[in-house]
Amino acid sequence: MAQSDKQTKFILDENEIPTHWYNIVPDLPAPPAPVLHPGTGQPIGPADLAPLFPMALIMQEVSSEKTIEIPDEVRDIYRLWRPSPIFRARRLEKALDTPAHIYYKYEGGSPAGSHKPNTAVAQAYYNKADGTKRLTTETGAGQWGSALSFACALFGLECTVYMVKASYYQKPYRKSMIEAYGATIYASPSTQTQSGRKVLAESPDTPGSLGIAISEAVEDAATHDDAHYSLGSVLNHVMLHQTVIGQEALKQMEKAGEYPDVVIACVGGGSNFAGLTFPFVGEKLRQGKKTRIVAAEPTACPTLTKGVYAYDLGDTVGLTPLVKMYTLGHTFIPPAIHAGGLRYHGDSPLVCQLLDHGLIEAVAHPQLRVFEAAVQFARTEGILPAPEAAHAIRSAIDEALAAKAAGEKKVILFNLSGHGHFDMGAYDAYFAGKLEDFDYPDEAIAEALTHLPKVG
Ligand SMILES: *Cc1c(COP(=O)(O)O)cnc(C)c1O
Repeated sequence: MAQSDKQTKFILDENEIPTHWYNIVPDLPAPPAPVLHPGTGQPIGPADLAPLFPMALIMQEVSSEKTIEIPDEVRDIYRLWRPSPIFRARRLEKALDTPAHIYYKYEGGSPAGSHKPNTAVAQAYYNKADGTKRLTTETGAGQWGSALSFACALFGLECTVYMVKASYYQKPYRKSMIEAYGATIYASPSTQTQSGRKVLAESPDTPGSLGIAISEAVEDAATHDDAHYSLGSVLNHVMLHQTVIGQEALKQMEKAGEYPDVVIACVGGGSNFAGLTFPFVGEKLRQGKKTRIVAAEPTACPTLTKGVYAYDLGDTVGLTPLVKMYTLGHTFIPPAIHAGGLRYHGDSPLVCQLLDHGLIEAVAHPQLRVFEAAVQFARTEGILPAPEAAHAIRSAIDEALAAKAAGEKKVILFNLSGHGHFDMGAYDAYFAGKLEDFDYPDEAIAEALTHLPKVG
């Protein structure tokens, strides 16, 4: 079906919300590397994860089924914002004077303002069904804390959020939103947990990090019988839940009468990237499509472009299992750049495996060029992007400019993972000339990598 020369929005009907999540594992060229116990270095089994997660999510974590059915209760809540629209960025194309066609999938229309409720709702559902009373979690920039507290409110679960201290003070309205949904929130490191007290004793002025906040949330769940832990990215079941994005996108691009040459998303822990791109990677693997898949990350936290592919811990204190991933080292404390959601030391093992297999590419952007792209996007397309999502916009614009230089038509699809309405402090800093580019120093990466756990 050809689109008219004005069509801008490609939408699906509510009954076209996917009925299943897509699991990339059986399509991979090799099985995923085993997850190891932090104490023994031996592969762990489902029972080892039972103190933290309900069995339904653990089984999804290790599943090799091609698809997993989405429960009706979850789909019913998805109806609040799904299917999400795809827009053709005609005004941005014009401003760039590019022959490229630029499309974006917009996930900012969810109640929390990002893609994160796609998994938060699923996780809250399985926990409720399992009899969990309370969920604990960490949040960096605050989007995940907002998403999970929203989902907990809908299922009548209590929620405790450990928010990285730097963000807690930089983004007070995320905290207000989390409290509005009824959750309890602490600046991390906090005095609530042994992990938090340990870090505070060693460095009382630390800005905190996602690794530290994860230690606190995991400890809280592991030491309370009625509580479970919930993670907003990185884990296989989170990538799985997000695949509703890419499944919808495949249908919408069909409606647009085009197939993308390049699919782009930003990567923090990998979930919005996996969500949009895994269904396209699946078509690459099964149908031999040549689609380029690009992961965009900040130069200040260059996990995929400068990290090593090795076993590492998911948190700072050492409570989580060892997973094989690109990592900057679990002791990595990122500089206080504003793209808070992209500051994790590691990335989803599934995303990392795709990079290792050469099925995807990664590129790092300095933040001034990222904000330049964000502002150009806002002034042409109208939506004010989250700084994280602006990394994908930067890559999309670079691809469109390369197409112009080469005089070739190229179809670009990227994920606009969220809006930036809670990030105005970062925009203010950019307009005031206070933001600086930061390349994470190679020496600091080398130092952090000396702390990688030894695996036999
Ligand atoms: C959390 C977040 C990210 C980064 O997390 P991923 O798991 O890599 O997707 C990106 N964009 C937005 C809007 C976010 O809220």
